[in-house]
Amino acid sequence: MRPPAFLTHAPQRKERSATTGFAGGLFDRGAAFREDADALARLRLAPGARFAVTVGERPVLARAGEHFALWHDAAALAGLGAPTDEVLLGVADGAGRFGVRLSPETAEALAARPDLLVLDLRSLAMQGLIAPDDLAALGAAKALTDWHARHRFCANCGAETHAAMAGWKRVCPSCGAQHFPRTDPVAIMLVTHGDRCLLARQPRFPPGMYSAIAGFVEPGETLEDAVRRETFEEAGLAVGRVTYVATQPWPFPSSLMIGCLAEALDDTITLDHTELEDGRWFSREEARAMLERRHPDGLTSATPIAIASTLIKVWLDG
Ligand SMILES: [Zn+2]
Repeated sequence: MRPPAFLTHAPQRKERSATTGFAGGLFDRGAAFREDADALARLRLAPGARFAVTVGERPVLARAGEHFALWHDAAALAGLGAPTDEVLLGVADGAGRFGVRLSPETAEALAARPDLLVLDLRSLAMQGLIAPDDLAALGAAKALTDWHARHRFCANCGAETHAAMAGWKRVCPSCGAQHFPRTDPVAIMLVTHGDRCLLARQPRFPPGMYSAIAGFVEPGETLEDAVRRETFEEAGLAVGRVTYVATQPWPFPSSLMIGCLAEALDDTITLDHTELEDGRWFSREEARAMLERRHPDGLTSATPIAIASTLIKVWLDG
């Protein structure tokens, strides 16, 4: 599908970032409508308006035969319950696309309806239940409406804030402070040493699954600083060259995963067992077998939607 000509900021499909899960979403993010209340109201009431809905943090999909549909029209939305938060995600083919959050108290009733599927976003993404572009829109809807739900009060003075700019900021009526949705940068790196890469597992991973190591970028750090610090903290390895590969929006709750390859200067691993249950060097053959789900011991690498898979593929393909 070609993006419309006016979408000068449309993702380039050749970019590696565009192939990661939760990336993409081929519509205009509607910046021109965010501060125009009349235009926004017209978009909201137009028959083409569509809504991506979560109840609490869990997406609500409509069952359409064997498939699931992300977008609800206004009549279907009205049948789900009263929104607690609503944001403009963007505009597609002239019609508004909105993210809506419903009170978690209605989750049980919605989950019991045979015409709906209420399922957490991680499971929905792993099972590939909706198209990649819809997954991107849903990730944005969840990240943004979660942020509203967690930021009802002003961090400056404690007064109750209200949403503004079609959901892209909150304003404090008491002290005038403006609050913007946050995105937290996380460095995720495939550490390599010659023909081997470091993969590790956290206790919460499914049995047999190994992935790249990762950590939040801290204030005052460059991305490369964060890669080197986290690799040393988690695996005791000094890192030389760091190469940026791709990014991935990761709406759990609001991260941007920044994927890198990192060349270790030596190969003696000292694992931080408070973070990692296990970790070791894997050969190219093993890493490929894990990626392709044919490792003789049943070991696997991260799910295909995660950027760790992209990093392993990029490294394997040289
Ligand atoms: Zn305030």
